[in-house]
Amino acid sequence: MQNNLILVVEDDKSVRNLIITTLKTKSYPYVSSETGKDALELINEKKPDIVLLDLGLPDIDGIEVIKQIRAWSNMPIIVISARSEDKDKIQALDMGADDYLTKPFSVDELLARLRVTQRRLAMISSTASNSVFHNGKLTIDYSAGCAFVSDQQLHLTPIEFKLLCLLSKNVGKVLTHTYLTKEIWGTSWETDMASLRVFMATLRKKLEANDNSEHYIQTHIGVGYRMLKVE
Ligand code: CA
Repeated sequence: MQNNLILVVEDDKSVRNLIITTLKTKSYPYVSSETGKDALELINEKKPDIVLLDLGLPDIDGIEVIKQIRAWSNMPIIVISARSEDKDKIQALDMGADDYLTKPFSVDELLARLRVTQRRLAMISSTASNSVFHNGKLTIDYSAGCAFVSDQQLHLTPIEFKLLCLLSKNVGKVLTHTYLTKEIWGTSWETDMASLRVFMATLRKKLEANDNSEHYIQTHIGVGYRMLKVE
């Protein structure tokens, strides 16, 4: 995975150096600024992918920076602040920050948060590039998070929708029980296998509720499931 460009906004030189040194250990490209105004200019100019933002800045407050970014952009903002009270965190998250680290922070934790954010960005770009799927009467709008059969919207739970996405993105291929449970729950225990069967049964029922002339999901007993390509 290509590392995203990180903007570091921090007026305290020692903290800024620590963050930059940390980014360098994992070869993240970065730009940095000491003030809120410079940060907003750099965002326009360099188009960073992720912002690491201090709140106590010498010119404008970090909260105001979040507000200005959110007026036009969904870029991930991770706040790194000495303000440790719940109300400060809540205010930053309410304004649109994605995550909040309290100083002093652990370098490993910062890297972990960055990895999670990068994965989310990668997922968004892969769904945005191919955001609507068609198969027979089935339509899935990945970015809107909804699915239709014959123009009737399906009322799917988040797990059913995720299963449907996994199957459709691999249409024609058998996905094993282990692969599916790992993708959904991160594990593949016996209890997950049982849950998978239940979710698959309800998903199939919903797909075929209005029109059972098409069978979209095929069961491969003891192996997994496959979405069939319907003409
Ligand atoms: Ca500061």
